Amino acid sequence: QKQIQLKKRPTGVPTSEHFEFVEVPVESPAKGEILLQTIYISVDPYLRGRMNDTKSYIPPFKLNEAISSGVIGKVVESKSDLFEVGDFVIGSLGWQQFSVAKDNTVRKIDPNLAPVSAYLSVLGMTGLTAYFGLLDIGKPKAGETVVVSGAAGAVGSIVGQIAKIKGARVVGIAGSDEKVRYLLDELGFDAAINYNTQDVGSALKEACPDGIDVYFENVGGEISDTIFPLLNNFARIPVCGAISAYNNSEPDVGPRVQGYLIKTSSLMQGFTVGNYSSRFGEGAKELASWLLEGKLKYEETVTEGFENTIDAFLDLFKGANLGKAIVKVADS
Ligand code: NDP
Repeated sequence: QKQIQLKKRPTGVPTSEHFEFVEVPVESPAKGEILLQTIYISVDPYLRGRMNDTKSYIPPFKLNEAISSGVIGKVVESKSDLFEVGDFVIGSLGWQQFSVAKDNTVRKIDPNLAPVSAYLSVLGMTGLTAYFGLLDIGKPKAGETVVVSGAAGAVGSIVGQIAKIKGARVVGIAGSDEKVRYLLDELGFDAAINYNTQDVGSALKEACPDGIDVYFENVGGEISDTIFPLLNNFARIPVCGAISAYNNSEPDVGPRVQGYLIKTSSLMQGFTVGNYSSRFGEGAKELASWLLEGKLKYEETVTEGFENTIDAFLDLFKGANLGKAIVKVADS
C-alpha cells in the first residue's frame, strides 16, 4: 500500500514536491487493535499549519512520516472485542490505504443515521466547530445580523444555517458566483457577497443596514478588515480561522482593530474546536437532529482516488470546494 509523507517543509504555497508517496507494508493488528481500510480522508486548511515547524495547539507533522487527519475507515480485521469486521469508524489516522489502530483511539459511527462521510463534515469536526464557535462565542439572537466569511465552505455553511435556525439575519462572504447562488438559493442566506468580484466594504454596508452583531471569522486578511467599521455595540467575533494567511511566509499585517473593539465594547475570541471536546456529544446530537429534521443541509466536494489527496488539499486554498472537501479512497 501507499502512504503520503511530508518530504519537505513548505514556505508559501505547498506543491507536490513537498510530499511523497511511499510504499509501506500493511500491518497486522495485535490484540486490542483493528485493521482499517481507508474509505474517506478529510482534507482541512489547518493541516497547512502542521507542515510548519512551529509551536501551535497541535504538534507539527514530522518529515518522512505519514500526514494524518480525520479518516473514515472500515474494519477489515478485528482483534478487539469492541469492533466487528464491517464496522465503520472515525479517527485521526495516516494518509494511507490501510491502517492499524488501537481500539480506544477510534470511534464507531452509525452508517444508518447519515452517509459515513457526513461524520467528517456536518456531524464531525467542522460541524462541531461551527456549532460551538457560533453558539458559545457568537451567541446570535433572533433579529441580529450575523456575517460569516468562508461562507460556502465546510464550517461557514453550517455557521450560516445555525444562525438562521436561531432567527438571525445571515450574510455570507465567498469567492465565486456559484457559491453566492448556493448560499442564497440552497441555504437561505439573506445576502451573499462574492469577494472576488465585489467591493466587500460597500457590499457589506448595503447587506447589513443595521450593522453587524456577530462576525464568524474564517479567513482573516482584507475581507476581515472590512468588518470592523460596521460592528454594533457588544458585537461578538469568534475567530475560527484565517486561511488567507496560512501560506504567508511573512507575518500578516493590516489595520489596527483595537479602536473598533473599544468603541463598540465588542468581544473577539479565538478558539479551537478541541476546547469543547467534553461537549462534543451534546453538539453532535443537536446537529444530527437538525439534519434529520431537514433544517440543516450539507454539501461535499468529493475527490476520487487516494492518488489525488494532495491536489484535494491544495484545492482548499484555491476555493475549489463547495462544502466539505473530502477524498474518497475506496468504496464503502
Ligand atoms: P473550507 O471548506 O471553508 O475550505 C476553505 C475555503 O477557504 C475555500 O473553499 C475558499 O473558499 C476559502 N479561501 C481559500 N483561500 C482564501 C483566501 N485567501 N481568502 C479568503 N478565502 C479563502 O474549510 P473549513 O470549513 O474546513 O475551514 C474554514 C476555516 O475554519 C479555516 O480557516 C480553518 O482553518 C478554520 N477551522 C478552524 C477550526 C478551529 O478549531 N478553530 C476547526 C476547523 C476549521 P472561497 O471560494 O470562498 O475563497
